[in-house]
Amino acid sequence: MRVEFDRDACIGMYQCVTEWEAGFEADRDAGKAILTDGEETADGVFVRDVPADAELDAKFAARACPVDAIRVYDDDGEQVV
Ligand code: SF4
Repeated sequence: MRVEFDRDACIGMYQCVTEWEAGFEADRDAGKAILTDGEETADGVFVRDVPADAELDAKFAARACPVDAIRVYDDDGEQVV
């Protein structure tokens, strides 16, 4: 499973940090989240693999985001959230 985070879309409400503490951090100075260990694959877009034991948390984080800045894909590349 893979998570993709669009930092430009993020409005810093930090529900993702609450849902997946090991996956997201709050950058309160910037008013944005940080995808922990995320790799920037396009301008403002960060990606990382989701550990098997964090898949539920990653999905909850994606569902909780009010602006759909977080997307979750399965191993076949299909978007699941
Ligand atoms: S829940 Fe969405 S808008 Fe809020 S900090 Fe996380 S990514 Fe940004």
